[in-house]
Amino acid sequence: MSDTLSEDTGRRARVTLYAVGGTIAGSAASRTNTTDYKVGIAAADLLAAVPEIAQIADVSHEQIANLPSSDVGAELLLKLSKAVTTRLRDPGVDGVVVTHGTDTLPESAFFLDLTVASDKPVVFVGAMRPASAVSADGPSNLLKAIALAGSPEAVGRGALIALNDRIGSAFYTNKTHSTAVETFRADEQGSLGVFINTRARFWFDAAKPVNKPFFDVSGIETLPKVAILYAYQDQDDLLIDAAIANGAQGIVIAASGHGSVSTTTKARIRELEAQGFPVVRATRTGNGVVAEKPEGIGAGVYSVTKARWLLALALASGASLDRIRAYFRA
Ligand code: ASP
Repeated sequence: MSDTLSEDTGRRARVTLYAVGGTIAGSAASRTNTTDYKVGIAAADLLAAVPEIAQIADVSHEQIANLPSSDVGAELLLKLSKAVTTRLRDPGVDGVVVTHGTDTLPESAFFLDLTVASDKPVVFVGAMRPASAVSADGPSNLLKAIALAGSPEAVGRGALIALNDRIGSAFYTNKTHSTAVETFRADEQGSLGVFINTRARFWFDAAKPVNKPFFDVSGIETLPKVAILYAYQDQDDLLIDAAIANGAQGIVIAASGHGSVSTTTKARIRELEAQGFPVVRATRTGNGVVAEKPEGIGAGVYSVTKARWLLALALASGASLDRIRAYFRA
């Protein structure tokens, strides 16, 4: 199997890199510091640091931002989604790579997974160690992500996350560790495959997640405000009412266990739902499915942050409460 030619066309892969920022574009004052660094390395320099990329694909790039991912939000994601959608319509482009901070990478990758209508690969990549670190992981991750974006085997699998030699589905994968390079996991669903050198080795043929929705954002400029509230013992209506008073049009609760909330919160959720206001109960445990109950929509298979984007996109599309419930039904 060739690393340099796209097998179905017999030509070099053509990939576009959208650089958003993150640790992969970060540098610290010392080679031993992996927690305190500045984001700002330009896309062209990320590519120049890995000359081997030129053996794999022709890569064009666009610096769409250069931010820590805690500053990525709806405005930037709508812009990125539209840019990627347009780019992938070009028959001369095989796939795109997005370099992005790992902290919110899974929710951005999920956003594009739900809003880019193309079977071509959209590969998100980042790094857990800044470019200045001993054993920086960014260059290897970037090389493999570009190989993956140009690979025919990656077609039709939705948005992908490529870090630490593993390939994950953006739909299911989340960040599970604050500092380790082995942080992107989908504990229930597993990885889609691994890299053998730069070759993607998938475990199975392409498949789509069950009930994966699509949202056309071509005409959308802003998204409704959806707040995430963390559940705790003694919880009252304080946070819910504050969120609504400040313009939230939907709420996701990072609830305990299987989406449980206090008796007070349950009653408030019922009142809100009777007025057509959606409250989604996700789990703060980081794993597992949350089923529907009378006290609010269960987040189903979606993590807290992914539930937020799904709810915002559903609201922006004008979905009714019943339709929203159906989106989340596990
Ligand atoms: N703080 C960084 C970010 O999310 C973390 C990373 O990229 O790993 O932008």
